[in-house]
Amino acid sequence: FSRLTEGLARTSSRLAGGVSDIFTKKKLDEETLEELEDLLISADLGLAPTERVISRLRKERVGQDVTDEEVKAILADVISETLAPLEKPLVIDKANQPHVILVVGVNGAGKTTTIGKLAAKFTAEGHSVLLAAGDTFRAAAIEQLKVWGERTGAPVVTRPHGADAAGLAFDAIEEAKKNGHDVVLIDTAGRLQNRSELMDELAKIVRVIKKLAPDAPHDTLLVLDATVGQNAISQAKTFTDIAGVTGLVMTKLDGTARGGILVALGDQFALPIHYIGIGEGIDDLRPFDARDFAKALTA
Ligand code: GDP
Repeated sequence: FSRLTEGLARTSSRLAGGVSDIFTKKKLDEETLEELEDLLISADLGLAPTERVISRLRKERVGQDVTDEEVKAILADVISETLAPLEKPLVIDKANQPHVILVVGVNGAGKTTTIGKLAAKFTAEGHSVLLAAGDTFRAAAIEQLKVWGERTGAPVVTRPHGADAAGLAFDAIEEAKKNGHDVVLIDTAGRLQNRSELMDELAKIVRVIKKLAPDAPHDTLLVLDATVGQNAISQAKTFTDIAGVTGLVMTKLDGTARGGILVALGDQFALPIHYIGIGEGIDDLRPFDARDFAKALTA
């Protein structure tokens, strides 16, 4: 938990520090509520969660003395209540043989890194993992995935830079079936510049892997970078429209004061939040826990 608190320190100093600035023991009136509302919105928490905090304070505490700690406790409750229904571990179903996880998101969001961390985790849990370097548009992404393959011992299926990603995904499923890998993690290119091309490419990958594994992909993970703040909302809109996203991973919560965006995302999209990234290291991917996240954010 302390690693988490440390990782979320920039967001919590904005959020909890801001609350302390406003509520150093004074009576709760409309003016302080307005200040708090501005703070929560500027901290990317989203309109509806912000309103839930404000209306709870208004209902329960207006006209009374209130401390910053009490306000933080209410804030933590609202964050936790908003996100708790979305807590959902990513479960590998052995019956799938292989369980196919497609990983989508814009360039730089942290897809390749997240795949590497997941490969380490699943391998440690006894799974046999195969990686597919489906971001064939960037030579660096292929190389980076190979490094993660070496680090985790997971074989990596590659094709040359510029090759067809759907064909590569097909190869990967075929190889997994042949060699008994029970998890396949497929990286993809995240070029948002051309939405219809991206949509076509993702649709083609899905079409092609279904030829070998009709139920696949079993999970489609959207990786979102917390440092982009409100932009994460528009990315989530785009990818949920075009890619049939089944769950979220939010990365780089350690590098930003904009971690509140996860609350807005959860509130708006109601997608399961599987993991959060709080660093570049192999162990820096945490299963999402709403209560711990809320506590760390308001610490
Ligand atoms: P991709 O283009 O979506 O595959 O993104 P990458 O996996 O290449 O990640 C882009 C950069 O973000 C890399 O330098 C990663 O090390 C870094 N990164 C990914 N996840 C995290 C995280 O949780 N915290 C931090 N600080 N950096 C991260």
